[in-house]
Amino acid sequence: MEETIDLLVKQVEERKGELIQLLTTLVSYKTPAPPARNSHEAQLYVADFLKNCGFSIDMWDLYSNDPIVVGTLKGQKSADYQSLIINGHMDVAEVQENEKWETNPFEAVVKDNMIIGRGVADMKGGLAGALFAVQLLTEAGIELPGDLIFESVVGEEVGEAGTLQCCQKGYTADFALVADTSDLHIQGQGGVITGWITIKSSKTYHDGTRRSMIHAGGGLLAASAIEKMAKVIGGLQELERHWAVTKSYPGFLPGTNTINPAVIEGGRHAAFIADECRLWITVHYYPNESYDQVSKEVEEYILAIAKADPWLKDNLPTFEWGGTSMIEDRGEIFPSLEIDEGHAGVQLLAHTHEQIEGKKPPIDVSTSVTDGGWLADAGIPAAIYGPGNLANAHAVNEQLDINQLIQYTKVMVQFIYTWLHTHKE
Ligand SMILES: [Zn+2]
Repeated sequence: MEETIDLLVKQVEERKGELIQLLTTLVSYKTPAPPARNSHEAQLYVADFLKNCGFSIDMWDLYSNDPIVVGTLKGQKSADYQSLIINGHMDVAEVQENEKWETNPFEAVVKDNMIIGRGVADMKGGLAGALFAVQLLTEAGIELPGDLIFESVVGEEVGEAGTLQCCQKGYTADFALVADTSDLHIQGQGGVITGWITIKSSKTYHDGTRRSMIHAGGGLLAASAIEKMAKVIGGLQELERHWAVTKSYPGFLPGTNTINPAVIEGGRHAAFIADECRLWITVHYYPNESYDQVSKEVEEYILAIAKADPWLKDNLPTFEWGGTSMIEDRGEIFPSLEIDEGHAGVQLLAHTHEQIEGKKPPIDVSTSVTDGGWLADAGIPAAIYGPGNLANAHAVNEQLDINQLIQYTKVMVQFIYTWLHTHKE
């Protein structure tokens, strides 16, 4: 079979026109998120593509007009051979009207061996490469002993739970590859969790009572929720600095573990003392930490500050963590993903990359976040490995090096073949 696989890898080069056409087709579906709710046609295209390759299809709505597609190609000897999930997202970063694109972002063009269009780097290039690899393998009639699961999700750009739902539905494998932007590095990632901190007064006061609650002899034990939130913000900065000093992770600049006070809302109008204030924060943490752990650290720190305050101690801040969509419920979680360099899947991927590229791939961390975290959170060993770089992800005139796309597709052909022919340990 070695010869067959060599021939297939060579075919990627010979048939690169088809690969570029496939990517051009994916780009032509307008799937920016936000606004989202626009991926039905694109996802139907993937479902048909996988069906033609012999996959059985499970398709359901994450939201109306934003379905998830999971294709399964059952292996000949599933019980004995390694299985693989390939995961990618069909939604792309938004395109704003005033952006100065040289070309129509949804009509991909090739120029100086780069392909330009929205999503080519993040991550329709990765999807196209992985789909084309699957097509080459199945067209050649190659029987794959292990199970192959292809997850085409939506909503990743706005923190929606497409991949989480795949995990909750029970899709699992011995190894998972997220084909998101990694410049052909094998990557883990830190995590992100958003949260809302709310300070609420049990009583509402007229603006005219302010003197009584802040000046000598006023005698009114009350407070502005906005002013108390300033104390919380100060506390978050102290904790952020403490984390920067005491925590680190190889591959990240010190202090990458930030706590961003991103949005603040509070008060009724100018005739009232603010009786409620809500702060939306974004917490970044390292691959060896969990969202449960860091959110608990934030709560404990802020509650300790609040308990030392004469008014906050009886009006303790409350916390709401995470969410399933930045659009629907203003919250998200991207769990972290730590690469296990000793895992057979990671080793085989690195080896395959080296065979095709002639040099070892860097194994490091993404400075962004992907759905890889949800796979890791579900206990599936996973890695991010895709074409395109972060300078191009979300950028105007987003582009991808066609040579890199070809190399990626070659690695995928050989990796899928070899991994699914590897005995389970
Ligand atoms: Zn992405």
